[in-house]
Amino acid sequence: MRITVLGATGSIGKSTFELLRQSGREFSVSAITAKSDVNGLVALVREFKAKLVVVADPERHRELRDALAGTGTKTASGSEGLLAAAEEPADAVMAGITGAAGLAPTLAAIQPGRRIVLANKECLVCAGDLFMRRVRQTGATLLPADSEHNAVFQALAAGPREAVERVTLTASGGPFRTFTREQLERVTPEEALRHPTWSMGSKITIDSATLMNKGLELIEAHHLFALPAKQLDVLVHPQSIVHALVTFRDGGVVAGLSVPDMQIPIAHCLGWPERLAWQAPKLDLAQIGSLSFEAPDPVRFPSLRLARAALEAGGATPTILNAANEVAVEAFLAGRIGFTGIPAIVERVLEKAAAERLGAPETVNAAAAVDHIARIRARDLLLEFAAKAS
Ligand code: NDP
Ligand code: MG
Repeated sequence: MRITVLGATGSIGKSTFELLRQSGREFSVSAITAKSDVNGLVALVREFKAKLVVVADPERHRELRDALAGTGTKTASGSEGLLAAAEEPADAVMAGITGAAGLAPTLAAIQPGRRIVLANKECLVCAGDLFMRRVRQTGATLLPADSEHNAVFQALAAGPREAVERVTLTASGGPFRTFTREQLERVTPEEALRHPTWSMGSKITIDSATLMNKGLELIEAHHLFALPAKQLDVLVHPQSIVHALVTFRDGGVVAGLSVPDMQIPIAHCLGWPERLAWQAPKLDLAQIGSLSFEAPDPVRFPSLRLARAALEAGGATPTILNAANEVAVEAFLAGRIGFTGIPAIVERVLEKAAAERLGAPETVNAAAAVDHIARIRARDLLLEFAAKAS
């Protein structure tokens, strides 16, 4: 199998390469990409070789080229470089870039006969209709790496589609599950980056703390499984052992469980339709003892409510939600706004956009244009929220 890894130096990329090391299967690396981590890319080329290596930041291209001189590996940079990586011949592509920045390359990677392993959920939030249309038109195989969606994908195989009544995604609740609203106002980026059950990149870790991640996942599930919002639910489950549940009309419920380790759903996607043999951490329920569940609190965690409303509103609303959230999360991580400023900014940007009723983006350029305007609007609000935070 020839594999390309978009976002090779991130948390998902590292998990993917760890599985490739362990899988014992024949594979070769086609293209790998990063935003700026040249050292990470060079280390991967030393170990796995690669036909094409791309650093998105053009200012780092020279450094990459010099480091790989004489190895026979092609290098490129910028958005064109990312597209070239997506188009490099490959049998499978791991879509592991974070944020809407992954949309154009991931769309370009969807080609006939290919397996797309999707981690980059923001692609589907930003342009889900467009994305799924491309998958249908090319006949590419789309496999969800996101743990909840991977569990749903597996559970759906237990019965006919028309018998599916409800799909429930679980959420750990993040590090602030039991915090009061007053406590939430004072949390720091450092505290928010300490996720209780999963080890992930910083953007998704903050999204998990606000519960926006689960909101984005509702939208992701809507597109992946063609399910309306009313059939999608969220359940808080602090141990992150049960990832999702599918309820069938006869009352039967099929759930997907595992140790919370992203290598497990990625292994499923890489091995599918077979099962990969690797040193998987095995679930020991006797040792865990008990699993608990509770309803999410939409008052303390408004992001979930905002994302559900965006899903129901449809059109370009999810694109706007995603862009505003990316700006707000970045500002929170940079210490510019407080934690509760994140959903507040998203809500304000959505309010402003509501009257415009923009349709769902039909092209990458249309998605980029909506995303761009929403980012400007979110940035315009940063000063106001920075003042409130101090
Ligand atoms: P990381 O931040 O750890 O890694 C992101 C990767 O994408 C890095 O290789 C990074 O390069 C690259 N990248 C970031 N921004 C850009 C950009 N603007 N242009 C090109 N490349 C870019 O993120 P994760 O691995 O945690 O997450 C990746 C995706 O997978 C996200 O969409 C996330 O929601 C999803 N996901 C992640 C899970 C996890 O456990 N981590 C679980 C489920 C879903 P560089 O290293 O140079 O910055
Ligand atoms: Mg998830």
